[in-house]
Amino acid sequence: MRLSRYFLPILREVPKEADIVSHRLMLRAGMIRQESAGIYAWLPLGLKVLNKICNIIREEQNRTGAVELLMPTIQSADLWRESGRYDDYGKEMLRIKDRHERDMLFGPTNEEMITEIVRGSVKSYKSLPLNLYHIQWKFRDEVRPRFGVYRSREFLMKDAYSFDLDAEGARHSYNKMFVAYLRTFARMGLKAIPMVADTGPIGGNLSHEFIILASTGESEVFCHGDYLEKAPPPADVNFDDAAAMQALVDDWTTLYAATEEKHDTAAFAAIPAERQMAARGIEVGHIFYFGTKYSEPFNAKVLGPDGAEKLLHMGSYGIGPSRLVAAMIEASHDEQGIIWPDAVAPFQVGILNLKVGDSAVDAACADLYAKLTMAGVEVLYDDTDERAGSKFATADLIGLPWQILVGPKSLADGKVELKRRVDGSRELVTPAEAFERLK
Ligand code: ATP
Ligand code: MG
Ligand code: MG
Ligand code: MG
Repeated sequence: MRLSRYFLPILREVPKEADIVSHRLMLRAGMIRQESAGIYAWLPLGLKVLNKICNIIREEQNRTGAVELLMPTIQSADLWRESGRYDDYGKEMLRIKDRHERDMLFGPTNEEMITEIVRGSVKSYKSLPLNLYHIQWKFRDEVRPRFGVYRSREFLMKDAYSFDLDAEGARHSYNKMFVAYLRTFARMGLKAIPMVADTGPIGGNLSHEFIILASTGESEVFCHGDYLEKAPPPADVNFDDAAAMQALVDDWTTLYAATEEKHDTAAFAAIPAERQMAARGIEVGHIFYFGTKYSEPFNAKVLGPDGAEKLLHMGSYGIGPSRLVAAMIEASHDEQGIIWPDAVAPFQVGILNLKVGDSAVDAACADLYAKLTMAGVEVLYDDTDERAGSKFATADLIGLPWQILVGPKSLADGKVELKRRVDGSRELVTPAEAFERLK
């Protein structure tokens, strides 16, 4: 992508309305724009990162055997009357009337709808286990939308729903998601700690929140410090092996970790003092096992192996990709701007033409741009006529992991500068070496 043809509305001024660093940087880097309170447009750069986060989530969900579908954003109130949640959900639900005066709503979550879908077509235990997920916009009329996309009213959620014949099968399904979540967040360079959590309005008995420690976090959390040193499960774990899944979950839940609602002061006090962590955290994922809470009112049953009808055992599993964009910036930035991990960077490489109009510099940039693009590398080529200083600032602000600085002086010696965003280190290399390194 040539910057001169891109849409990157950078803000040089620090926006006054934003009080945490991720919100400020997302506005300054031209990633989002507020359209109403808690409602944002995702500009091209922001959308690129959001899509990358979604793809990591998708890959890790698919690895477990979960299957993607897409449910609508608008739901019928009748569906929610069936579960009894239409009245319970309260003011967070955006209620809408259509032209026929029918009660509709903008979905805040999809337990009801997925249960209705599965009830209609799954009749036998032979179709189980089943885990269906989608990545879809949700709306919750938050009392206090704030911090940009961290707590917005319209936000993206990956929500998965598992269906099993019995509690044992459901536990296996829960464990698979637990392990997939550990891998998902680790691939984003995040240390997300699974903490014993309250089940809230979803209801049920087993639940973990995945929390990233950050001073700007809205949750108060308590955990053992060793969590920060634990290595995530490898890519080749066997999700079909129920015992292996349970062992991994046991390993990740023996140390103390709990959210405020589930905090047990005695258990926390038993942790060696220097390992006790009472901190603030950002909830990036939340998983639940709730048994037959929804299958009962929806009468969602299958025939078991013995020919008897059984209520489905269910779980639900949410991740907030849009909140994750903010969480990742909270976790990784400096004075100059965002520092994207390679896995989610909007572009892997920036080429900075430091003297547009100099024929040698233009040619070297064009050549590198063409070759890297052909090799499948995502490149943002700064071919604008901004000053060098402003180009450096932009590339650092938007967090490009690798930057190739091409200027007349070094180029006269056949060299370009290769800069690593994370530590600012620079190295003189030939254009050919730069290409070999980055392709
Ligand atoms: P919170 O405690 O922050 O209000 P929640 O517990 O209400 O979140 P869940 O119902 O567990 O949220 O939804 C699953 C995931 O969706 C959350 O873990 C979070 O990542 C994301 N999420 C929830 N509410 C928002 C929001 N208002 N803005 C952005 N992401 C959100
Ligand atoms: Mg909430
Ligand atoms: Mg919560
Ligand atoms: Mg939650």
